[in-house]
Amino acid sequence: MTFVPANEGIEKLKPYQPGKPISELERELGITNIVKLASNENPLGCSDKVKEAVAAELAEIGRYPDGGGFILKDQIQQQFGFAHDRITLGNGSNDLLEMFARAFVSEKDSVVYSQHAFAVYALVTQAIHAEAIEVPAKGFAHDLDAMAAAIKDNTKLVFIANPNNPTGTWFEEAEFEAFMQKVPANVIVVLDEAYVEYFPENFNSLKYLEQYPNLIVSRTLSKCYGLAALRVGFALASKEVTDYLNRIRQPFNVNHLAMVAAVAALKDEAFIEKSREVNKAGMKQLEEGFKALGLNYVPSRANFILVDVQADPGQTFNALLKEGVIVRPVGISNHLRVSIGTEAENAKFLTALAKVLGLEAKA
Ligand SMILES: *Cc1c(COP(=O)(O)O)cnc(C)c1O
Repeated sequence: MTFVPANEGIEKLKPYQPGKPISELERELGITNIVKLASNENPLGCSDKVKEAVAAELAEIGRYPDGGGFILKDQIQQQFGFAHDRITLGNGSNDLLEMFARAFVSEKDSVVYSQHAFAVYALVTQAIHAEAIEVPAKGFAHDLDAMAAAIKDNTKLVFIANPNNPTGTWFEEAEFEAFMQKVPANVIVVLDEAYVEYFPENFNSLKYLEQYPNLIVSRTLSKCYGLAALRVGFALASKEVTDYLNRIRQPFNVNHLAMVAAVAALKDEAFIEKSREVNKAGMKQLEEGFKALGLNYVPSRANFILVDVQADPGQTFNALLKEGVIVRPVGISNHLRVSIGTEAENAKFLTALAKVLGLEAKA
């Protein structure tokens, strides 16, 4: 067979490296009782209301889903106040991030994002063989001034995440407003809010959608809502932007069970409240644990935290695997990203970390 080269962008593309699945480590080590704090999943799983709602719909599996996503868009409209023609549903927000790039960026264009930003921004840019403009981070955070200044004539889209993954860093409304004022009206700004439910008091992005027709707010049900396996995300934007996104969206990109689950998840505010409390308590537990071990960390407003292990992150990651704990190296020297787990999971991780680093906790 002759070798058929892929398009230039894809030739050079290194696929996304997901967190290691528990089942894989179980097979490799022949152990159970593994703690996975690697993919920012909700340690409580999902709401019981979601399980009931999905169970009640199993008989529908033989039918195509509603391609328009009526029930889910209706729930989103009720909760967030945006009409159906301003909502785009995604098979996870990853699906949406790819749609944004494909709808608005072509090969001759450029995309701006920050150093240490969510890895998918670079991947979707590379996949369409557009120019990537990676702006150096300030500390670990987005440097919004520098990002605005990096916009060129051929820039079509800017990705920003608040809070950012893998750093957990955030920006305030005033910084965002100053940034938006500087971005030309023909450049799309994607505000990725995958973790917004954890610290919602800090930032209200939705009001900016009226002011800026070039703004897209992207949300996911994978994190705080606990639906990572089902793949549901949604984007809110102007009617015009939404129309373009829906031209390229696959007709049945979100499946029926996922939509039913998402409706139940969005309605269950008590579960979100509980998840937030568990996260706040777990964050405190890890911060105190790191302090006791003499380790620095990057303050976070998400459901994970970046810790400076003062050692090679790859080796530390591997040593932790042998202790039955999966965390995530994220390409930042000396640092590992740890998702906030339950109290018991966090405790197991802290004990394992102290062991593999040869440290002793000081009270
Ligand atoms: C996890 C994550 C997403 C994607 O989540 P989906 O499961 O695809 O919805 C998007 N953006 C950021 C910053 C994330 O951390």
